[in-house]
Amino acid sequence: MHLEEMKKQIENLVITKGFYNKPEDIPKKLLFAFIELGEASDAWKKGLPQEKIAEELIDVIFYVLDASRLACPDMNLDVVFRNKLEKNLGRTFQYGEGHRGKQV
Ligand SMILES: [Mg+2]
Repeated sequence: MHLEEMKKQIENLVITKGFYNKPEDIPKKLLFAFIELGEASDAWKKGLPQEKIAEELIDVIFYVLDASRLACPDMNLDVVFRNKLEKNLGRTFQYGEGHRGKQV
């Protein structure tokens, strides 16, 4: 399944279940994504089964994709993903991790 298809399925879930569905709800959705990241981290730290960790990470993806369909509805996320991957692949080795190897 591709990101655009996932977005449509998440939109259907949101409408079916009566979840927040307005542009002004975007900050809440992004906050919920952060909360789910915390749940994933907590599950990993507690040594919970991989299934639980994966479920929490999928919750993150749900909220991110849900926010994206409201925040940038004209963007095709499959295209954005491919372009961003290409961009990152074109960067230098360990870009953004310049702190590595430095004495602290
Ligand atoms: Mg969760």
